[in-house]
Amino acid sequence: MKRCDASRRHKGPFYTLIIHAREVGRGSRQPGYRRAAQTKKVATLCKECLLAGRIEAEGKDLVPLEVK
Ligand SMILES: [Zn+2]
Repeated sequence: MKRCDASRRHKGPFYTLIIHAREVGRGSRQPGYRRAAQTKKVATLCKECLLAGRIEAEGKDLVPLEVK
């Protein structure tokens, strides 16, 4: 069951935060080229914590793996 990351006692509804990184721009739209993408689940928070909080993430977790 989903819980707020800040406290197990916080009440729902909860929000799962996801950062989606996607390669864009020149060179990424050629036919047959698959854009690199990475989806990272950052946190699950209740509404109150989400409103009061600020989201940070490690950049290295967001960089897509190199597409071969
Ligand atoms: Zn909370």
